[in-house]
Amino acid sequence: MTDKERFVPTSDFVEELSKRPGGEGISKCVQCGICTASCMVANETDKYRPRKLIQKIILGKREEVLSSELPWLCMTCRMCEERCQEGVSIAEIFRAVRELAAEEGHIPDVFSDTVNLIAEDGWMLADSYTDFQEDDRLDLELDPNLGWNCEFSKKIKKRYIDGE
Ligand code: SF4
Ligand code: SF4
Repeated sequence: MTDKERFVPTSDFVEELSKRPGGEGISKCVQCGICTASCMVANETDKYRPRKLIQKIILGKREEVLSSELPWLCMTCRMCEERCQEGVSIAEIFRAVRELAAEEGHIPDVFSDTVNLIAEDGWMLADSYTDFQEDDRLDLELDPNLGWNCEFSKKIKKRYIDGE
C-alpha cells in the first residue's frame, strides 16, 4: 500500500458523524496534535490519543472506533477545546461517537454493569449500600428501605442496554 492509499478514507464515517449533533465540527481538524498534548487522560495513558482517534474517524475506520473503549475515556474536561486553534470540540465529537456506539450495542462492560447496578439497586456500589443499610440505618432507627427512585436509571438501561 502506498502512502497516498493509506490516507484514502475507507468509509463515509466522517460524513455520517458530521450529520449527528456534536459531530459537526470534525472536518475542521488539521491533525496538529495540540489536543493530545493538552489532555489529562492522554497524560495518564499512552493508549488514549484524541488526535489519533479523530484521524481514525476521518479515515473511515467505523467499526474499529465504535467498538473501541477509547471514546469512553474522554472526561469532557474540554481542555483540548480551549486550545484547539480550529475550534474543534473533541468532547462533543466523542459524545456523538458514544451515542452511536451505544445505539449499535457497543457499550464497555464497566459502563453497562454500572447502569445495571444503579437500575437494580439505586447504587453504583451495591455492597456499600448493603453494609450501610444493615450496619447503620437500623442502628439509627431509620427505615432500612431508602425508597430510591430508579425510574430514570431504568429508562437509560431500557434504551441503551436492553435496546428496547
Ligand atoms: S487540536 Fe484541534 S485541529 Fe489539532 S488535532 Fe486536535 S482537534 Fe484537530
Ligand atoms: S475533553 Fe476529553 S479529549 Fe479533550 S482534553 Fe478533556 S479528556 Fe482529553
